[in-house]
Amino acid sequence: MSGETISQMVGRLLDGRATARANVEAALSRLTEHGSYNSLISTCEQRALQRADQIDQSLRKEPGRAGRLAGVPFVAKDNFLSFGAPTTAASKMLRNFQAPYQATVIERLEAEGAICVAKSNLDAFAHGSSTENSDFGPTLNPHDKSRVPGGSSGGSAAAVALGSVPFALGTDTGGSVRLPASFCGVVGYKPTYGLLSRFGVVAMASSTDVVGTLSRSAGDAALLVDVMSGRDPHDATTLDRPSDLRYKGGLRPLNVGLIEEFMGPEVDPAVKAAIENTCQKLARMGHRVNKVSLASLPLALAVYYIVVPAEISSNLARYDGIRYGYSAPRAASLEATYGLSRDQGFNAENKRRILIGTYVLSSGYIEAYYQKAQTVRTKLINDFKAAFKRFDFLIGPVAPATAFKLGQNTKDPLKMYLTDVMTVGASMAGLPAVSLPAGSDPAGLPIGAQLIGPQLSDGKLLQLAQDMEGVN
Ligand code: GLN
Repeated sequence: MSGETISQMVGRLLDGRATARANVEAALSRLTEHGSYNSLISTCEQRALQRADQIDQSLRKEPGRAGRLAGVPFVAKDNFLSFGAPTTAASKMLRNFQAPYQATVIERLEAEGAICVAKSNLDAFAHGSSTENSDFGPTLNPHDKSRVPGGSSGGSAAAVALGSVPFALGTDTGGSVRLPASFCGVVGYKPTYGLLSRFGVVAMASSTDVVGTLSRSAGDAALLVDVMSGRDPHDATTLDRPSDLRYKGGLRPLNVGLIEEFMGPEVDPAVKAAIENTCQKLARMGHRVNKVSLASLPLALAVYYIVVPAEISSNLARYDGIRYGYSAPRAASLEATYGLSRDQGFNAENKRRILIGTYVLSSGYIEAYYQKAQTVRTKLINDFKAAFKRFDFLIGPVAPATAFKLGQNTKDPLKMYLTDVMTVGASMAGLPAVSLPAGSDPAGLPIGAQLIGPQLSDGKLLQLAQDMEGVN
């Protein structure tokens, strides 16, 4: 049901006003109804209905005893390995790939009774900011079909914004949860690096990849991270689950820093006004907002587009046309199989990143590019640390402008990359961040406000976000 939160949905199931089957059927019919937005790559209808029936059956046997997400349908970005449909990463390379196991986060959601009903569209291998790099065609923005939903988790954000499912899974390597959340007007949460397992998620850049959520409320994001977090023996970077992930209500007055570098003249006036309004709201809530400058933050984009392609070139090396995925037909030799499969399986943006990444790692250039970028990355991390000595949280926009027109940035990759200028900083430093709906521009397009916290402040960050939702 459109507008319903996860706990309301579970509540209806527990007191017998709904069944898991009815929830799944309703979600699937809403997703079909909104088919023209192209938010999905596939549905997992058969498996979803089977799981729903199992949940209904066990509820009949033991009424009142159910998981925290019992019968709640969700959509997973198609770079999560899952059963019931292929896992394509929106790339021709994996078009018919059937996952042999499921991502840890999907397993944990299922253990609490959630039901994956569909796999959502993305930029192929999550390389992009608009979903226009999908090999399955772009997703359209729910607020204006001539515009992009943001990316790369555009399909997940659109599905939630359209009211088809209460939540969706996304991944955020440099903003891919926060940007589409902002462009579509939903809550997008990117956890501290390592809080959620990356096992069974198609790797993009392993030092910044995180699993994130798209939901209607910050409370739902808090519930979901509580369900999914905790160490995973399959992902050595996972952290122990902090004890304070759930809302306890009432924060003491906080110091919030408004990032000066993100409020310059190049930022759309409607976006700036929305952020200023959000700061006033924080002040009305009793928090103190002051400007803060992070000198190295404007360099984060250049650092990102060196380090991330370097990691991409290494992670994508496994697609060789032999082990799994697309294999070029009629290749005359092993060498030709590698070459043709990669040439035909990867799209132009994937190849651009492989080329850049290979270049910055190659002998003679590694010092000038990759190592220099890592030095600046350390400086950026230290600048954030210094800011968090004075401030509990930082605030700024998610992007310099609202959703752009389809095709507007596709001919100029650098213009597309500039969309990420405000999200990549938190990614390079592994910090938790959330994109919250903060009004709209004169054309009615949503604007997101971004709150960034120190590592492992996730519980408190989402607590502040929940408090803000209750204030006009
Ligand atoms: N838009 C950014 C990029 O193209 C971020 C992508 C992501 O977070 N997956 O790299």
